Amino acid sequence: MSWHLVGKESHEPTKSVAVGDIHIGGSEIVVVAGPCAVESESQIIETARTVRAMGASLLRGGAYKPRSSPYSFQGLAEDGLKLLHQAKEITGLAIVTEVMDPRDIELVARYADLLQVGSRNMQNFPLLRELGRCGRPILLKRGLAATIEEWLLAAEHVMAQGNDQIILCERGVRTFEPMTRNTLDLAAVSLVKQISHLPVIVDPSHATGRWRLIQPMSLAAVAAGADGLMIEVHPAPDHALSDGPQSLTPASFHRLMQSLGPVARAVGRDLPGEKRE
Ligand code: PEP
Ligand code: MN
Repeated sequence: MSWHLVGKESHEPTKSVAVGDIHIGGSEIVVVAGPCAVESESQIIETARTVRAMGASLLRGGAYKPRSSPYSFQGLAEDGLKLLHQAKEITGLAIVTEVMDPRDIELVARYADLLQVGSRNMQNFPLLRELGRCGRPILLKRGLAATIEEWLLAAEHVMAQGNDQIILCERGVRTFEPMTRNTLDLAAVSLVKQISHLPVIVDPSHATGRWRLIQPMSLAAVAAGADGLMIEVHPAPDHALSDGPQSLTPASFHRLMQSLGPVARAVGRDLPGEKRE
């Protein structure tokens, strides 16, 4: 097996990854929620308070945004990291945010608990190697057109440098289908759970591009064996500086969270704070 560090024998369980006091890959379904990008103090603090009250365990929000166009909003950079840190101090939520450049790792790691490698950087090998030495857990998103093997080998690059704290994130792959932003590959989630010990979470927001598909695809992801979800939530999606059409309002996020419990329990999982007897 060419990914011997991230692979496993079929009977071995997933090895959970700790982010602060949250364990991803155990019995609980962990929900990461927050806006695509950190836009302002009020936006991120309000979102953090809301998603925490509704059961999210981690706050997401990009400070360095990989945008297709150089003329789109690129993120608030270090100011965005400071706002995320402020949101953590207020709510206690652990922070996940993207790092795009090996030169920014030290700075981002000062503010964030979990460092995200975005889809566009899944095969940025110098970045992966540096993250393998950074001593922080990594959220590795699947590349836009990456095979499952390439995704696992990207994780292997991080692990080969000594960092085994890796969570994989399926976020859809590019196909011939234009009616959804990407095509959510749930078979990949079940397969990777069978052949690797790494926890896998699903991001239905980038996978579909449509807020109305987030709830059904989240339920399907949990049923398929995902260890968690990453959901874009914005207080006013119509005014979001990025990814508004795929962002949930607080009300629709609340409905999603309410609906997860029965599906989680049906596949032998719990939501945080809902431990079974
Ligand atoms: C994100 O999660 O902020 C993001 C940019 O997603 P992806 O890298 O999957 O496109
Ligand atoms: Mn986004």
